[in-house]
Amino acid sequence: MAQYTPMIQQYLNIKADYQDAFLFFRLGDFYEMFFEDAIKASQELEITLTSRDGGGEERIPMCGVPYHSASSYIEQLIEKGYKVAICEQTEDPKQAKGVVKREVVQLITPGTLMEGKGLGEKDNQYIASVTVFEALFGLALTDITTGESYVTLLSTMEDCLGELYSRQVKEIVVADDFPEKLKKMILERQPVTFSIEKDAAYLEKLDSIAGHLQDQRLKITFARLYNYLERTQKRTLEHLQKVEFYQLNQYLKIDMYSKRNLELTETIRSKGKKGSLLWLLDETKTAMGARLLKQWIDRPLIDKKEIEKRQNIVGMLIDRYIEREELRELLKEVYDLERLSGKIAFGNANARDLIQLKKSLEKIPEIRSIVASLGIADSEQIKKEIDPCESLKELLQKAIIENPPISVKEGNIIKDGFNEELDRYRDAARNGKTWIAELEKRERELTGIKSLKIGYNKVFGYYIEVTKANLHLLDEGRYERKQTLANAERYVTPELKEKEVLILEAEEKIVDLEYELFVQIRDEVKQYIPRLQLLAKKIAELDCLQCFAVISEERHYTKPSFSDSELYIKDGRHPVVEKVMESDNYVPNDCWMKEGRNILLITGPNMSGKSTYMRQIALTAVLAQIGCFVPASEAVLPIFDQIFTRIGAADDLVSGQSTFMVEMLEAKNAIVHATNQSLILFDEIGRGTSTYDGMALAQAIIEYIHDHIGAKTLFSTHYHELTVLGDELQNVQNVHVKAIEENGKVVFLHKVDEGAADQSYGIHVAELAELPEILIQRAKEILSKLEGDNQKEKYTPSVIEHSVEPSIEYSAEPSQLSLFGDEIAEKKKEPAGKKLSSKEKEVLSIISSLDLLDMTPLEALNTLYDIQKKLK
Ligand code: ADP
Ligand code: MG
Repeated sequence: MAQYTPMIQQYLNIKADYQDAFLFFRLGDFYEMFFEDAIKASQELEITLTSRDGGGEERIPMCGVPYHSASSYIEQLIEKGYKVAICEQTEDPKQAKGVVKREVVQLITPGTLMEGKGLGEKDNQYIASVTVFEALFGLALTDITTGESYVTLLSTMEDCLGELYSRQVKEIVVADDFPEKLKKMILERQPVTFSIEKDAAYLEKLDSIAGHLQDQRLKITFARLYNYLERTQKRTLEHLQKVEFYQLNQYLKIDMYSKRNLELTETIRSKGKKGSLLWLLDETKTAMGARLLKQWIDRPLIDKKEIEKRQNIVGMLIDRYIEREELRELLKEVYDLERLSGKIAFGNANARDLIQLKKSLEKIPEIRSIVASLGIADSEQIKKEIDPCESLKELLQKAIIENPPISVKEGNIIKDGFNEELDRYRDAARNGKTWIAELEKRERELTGIKSLKIGYNKVFGYYIEVTKANLHLLDEGRYERKQTLANAERYVTPELKEKEVLILEAEEKIVDLEYELFVQIRDEVKQYIPRLQLLAKKIAELDCLQCFAVISEERHYTKPSFSDSELYIKDGRHPVVEKVMESDNYVPNDCWMKEGRNILLITGPNMSGKSTYMRQIALTAVLAQIGCFVPASEAVLPIFDQIFTRIGAADDLVSGQSTFMVEMLEAKNAIVHATNQSLILFDEIGRGTSTYDGMALAQAIIEYIHDHIGAKTLFSTHYHELTVLGDELQNVQNVHVKAIEENGKVVFLHKVDEGAADQSYGIHVAELAELPEILIQRAKEILSKLEGDNQKEKYTPSVIEHSVEPSIEYSAEPSQLSLFGDEIAEKKKEPAGKKLSSKEKEVLSIISSLDLLDMTPLEALNTLYDIQKKLK
């Protein structure tokens, strides 16, 4: 068998260490891929697949991308969840003996992207590591672009899944024995790339950022993540900040389902930001502020002092319009200090980044004086935190040219006067050029050729050009001929060549020296990273708070106050719905909950505003606990420890569970974890199953919350039968959303009032939706008939005081079936209607002979299919 060429052998050796990545193998001006990688990449990137001889028997599949445009291809692959290993030539090909040495210099993965479109400036990019300890899950998170890291121990799998989901983790680093089952569960909820890191050894060098962690398990979990980052990025990660330990119960806990249901940071339908609470609030001016805002919404506070601290600043900013506007203008000019710090530490910041840094720092003194004038913080604190890093700013002002190029290797970066040596070379180059300009002038005069000019190109260097038409004016032998063009001759002189050498030497030295100086400056800037990161944090906070002030003022929000047990909201509005529908039309509503009214049972027709009302209360609580003002004219709220929701009937397609199962899982989550400090929203629970089943469950759930939990609960239901609970259970109160009938049509008032609603307006809603008139009439008939029937076998919830086991009388036959039966009977009886055809009769007899309880859903479907075929 023929041998592979040495280069292909080198390729295969390197590839063996990067099985799970595309290996971008540098060959001249291209990154080439071979074998399987080439086939896959050519499909994913839609680039041409070729092949080359590699010494083996068959040609090797190959494809490649140009080095200078590689980043967009890399991004495409990363976006699809792949990893890319960048393999560079690590010696000068001219000096290489045999095959040029090559090494992987960086592994780019979905969780370690440092720049490009894939990196949303308003989103953190988290990479996580999860370690399973006996009954706990260790979780570490790092955003390598900003240097933030967090660790925690979680007691349930649900919490772990929830954290990974809400932080939108892109990549998870695990041990090689990580449980497959858990991996599968994570992948069912979110697209994420898994990476293996066996080495979880905690080394002393981590002490500066993780030495304060008390628990060994936290150290191991973080070390695994760190070791992975260091191994794949192949550089020291100097910008990583001190790891922050957090616990879920330090914040208002909102589980994954509820975050989604409340549309805190994205909407359920489009999964986009538009229409979410984040969208409403985002008046931030900096990328850092936007990212922090998202974190704040994700983790509202529970410490009253901290909430009030934010509220006070928001209040001050509302009162001081002019200062606030000035502050906003200044913030606009502040670039992303966190990510700039990351790029500097990573060594891929260019001169433009340093200019951004400089411009940002130039704004800090003014921001600082506004903060001082507002009296937001004491002056010592301001000095420490809003740190303009004067000496850094001065360095950058002195050193870097205002509009430098993107490349750092082509000069034009360093200002005159910054470095003597550089100035000397520049003088030499400039003098040489002046000399050339003078030469041109002199030669024009001496020869009398006005169009004579001195030019430059890379191949011939400097030359004197004379057009053919003027050649006769030139003395023979005045210059040495160098090149003949169609209509001109090019010449040189010994003097010109001498100057050329001087100029070119100086220029080469300039470029080299500028790069050297740039790298020195960049290294010096590295020393400032911790200060810049602290500054970034403070700027981000200020940005979020000004944003709260702007929204609160613009939308007429009020400052809420806090109570231990009472909730009182006057003229409350749903913040997002109000914004979307023009506030004039929004009907404000009150809400009052306290001892004796802990559970509100909300009835009202479909579309009347029950769900909106419930969400409005939850969003008001979230807004209050992140320190923002709230959409109401008056608000007193408890500080909730957790919010649970069961809202809407959207199928959880991601995890493939049925609506009803999701409904029950969400209900369980609330019932197991809620305390008397929690807020529960149950929207039409029990809807996903048959009527009596659902009603029974709904009642049992209300009773359970009433007797065992005592959480503030909003429970909407379309089962009017449940409203008797308002009389029977001490802490349950009926409220309803009003609708009135006008000329036989329903008009929704969207107004919440005491007491239970008296009827359902489903058919009217159908009418509003303009279903065919004949269908509506038929529905009305059926309804009145059903209402008649219902008088006979009415569901009456039997309430035993504080019952644990409700005893419910079910009617022997489910109502749905009897309806079907009656209808058929009616049709049979009624000769005035359309006569049944023989086919229809046959079908009816088939249906009535079916033993439904003995059929699988598939069999039932097949039968239905057959029946339909008969009727066609
Ligand atoms: P339900 O849950 O009772 O079926 P929704 O809460 O879904 O009703 O509300 C239906 C529609 O009514 C919403 O889409 C919204 O446009 C409108 N709506 C709800 N509450 C109000 C309100 N307070 N003021 C104005 N319009 C409202
Ligand atoms: Mg609803």
